[in-house]
Amino acid sequence: MPIAEKMLKMVEGSSLIRKMFEEGAKLKAQYGADKVYDFSLGNPDVPPPEAFKNALKAMVEDENLTHGYMFNVGYPHVREAVSKYIQTEYGIQIPGDLIIMTSGATGALNDSLKALLNPGEEILVPCPYFVGYNHYAFVANATLTTAESNEDFRLNFANIEKAINGKTRVMLINSPNNPTGVIYSAVELKQLGDVLERASTKFGKRIYLISDEPYRKIAYDVQPPSVFDAYPHTLLVTSFSKDLSLAGERIGYLAISPEAEDAALISRAAGVANTMFYVNAPSLFQLAVAKSIGTTVDVGIYRRRRDMLCEGLSNAGYDFTTPDGAFYLFPKTPIKDDVQFCRILLEERILGVPGSGFGRAGYFRLSYAVPDVTIRDSIEGFKRAIRKVT
Ligand code: PLP
Repeated sequence: MPIAEKMLKMVEGSSLIRKMFEEGAKLKAQYGADKVYDFSLGNPDVPPPEAFKNALKAMVEDENLTHGYMFNVGYPHVREAVSKYIQTEYGIQIPGDLIIMTSGATGALNDSLKALLNPGEEILVPCPYFVGYNHYAFVANATLTTAESNEDFRLNFANIEKAINGKTRVMLINSPNNPTGVIYSAVELKQLGDVLERASTKFGKRIYLISDEPYRKIAYDVQPPSVFDAYPHTLLVTSFSKDLSLAGERIGYLAISPEAEDAALISRAAGVANTMFYVNAPSLFQLAVAKSIGTTVDVGIYRRRRDMLCEGLSNAGYDFTTPDGAFYLFPKTPIKDDVQFCRILLEERILGVPGSGFGRAGYFRLSYAVPDVTIRDSIEGFKRAIRKVT
C-alpha cells in the first residue's frame, strides 16, 4: 500500500462529496456554468465589508509593513483586539494569553483537540454534523461519536447523556449550524452545560465544551446567545471565513474561558499544537482583521436568498425546517435514499449534498451562498425532481 491504511479510509470516506463535485464539473463543461445550479459548496460569495477592504489597502501601502514571523500564537495587539471584541460580543473577559490566532476555525479546532485529547478518547457531536469533524478527530487520534438530535435538529439531551462515557473528553457543538441552520437557545445551552457538569462528576474527568461558531454573525430572526454563560469549561473556536467572507485567507482564533479548568495549560498546549501545524496564522490577515473586527458582510443578502429558496422549495412541496442562521438548508428527501435523490437532482443540473455525508440519511444539504439567479432559475428543476418520485 503506497499510502497509510488509516489515510486510505479517509480518502474513501470523502468520495461521496467528491463524486458530486466531479459530476458537477462535467455538467458545467457540457452546459455552461450558468445552466448548472450548484448548491454544493459553502463558499461565501458576498463581498467583505468596505471597512475591511480599506484596512487591507492601507496596510499594503504602508512602508513599515513587515512579513516576518511573530509569536506563534499571534501578534499580542491582535489578540488584545480579539479580547476586546469578545468582551462586547459575549460579555466575558478573556485575556489575550488565552487567545490564539489560527488558520481559520479549522486551525482552532485542530489546536484545541490536539491539546485536549489522548489517543482513543472521544469527541461527542450532535448529529447531523459538519463532515470536517471526522478529519479533526483523525488528526487528534481521537474517536468521533454522535448523539442524534431531534427531528427539528434541537439537542436531544437523553441521547447526549447516553452517549457520554468515561472516554468522552470533548463535546463539540456548532451554532448556527452546518448543515441544518439551527441556532441553539440559551436554555438549550444551559441544559447542555448541566449535562456536561453532571457527567464530569460521574466519570471523574473534566469534559470540555468546544463551541464552533464561524457562522455566528450570519443569523436572521434570533441572535446566538453566549455559550460562556452556559458552562465554564468552554473553548470558543471561530473564524472570519464567513462573517468577513475571508474563507480563502485562513484566519480565525481559539479563545479559552478563564474559568475553564486548567485554562492556562490548555492555552500553552494549543499554542504548541499551532506551531506544529502551520507555525502561525497569516500575518497580513491578523493585522487586517484586528482593524475591522466587529464589522460583518451584508447578512441581508443571505436572508433574502434564504427566503427565496424556502419559498421556492415550499411551493414545490419539500419538507424542511426554516434555518435560523448560517447559509444552509437541510430538507428531507422525498424518497428514503438521499444519494439517489441527489442523482435525480443532478438530472435537473442541480447539485446538492446527500445528508448521509453529515450523518443523517433521508435529507440533503443546499448551500445558498449562491447568486439569487441560481436560486430563481433552479426552482422549476426542484419541482420536476419531486414530481418524478411522488
Ligand atoms: N466549522 C464549520 C461548521 C464549518 O462549516 C466550517 C467551514 O465550512 C469550518 C468549521 C471551517 O471553517 P474555516 O474555513 O474557518 O476553517
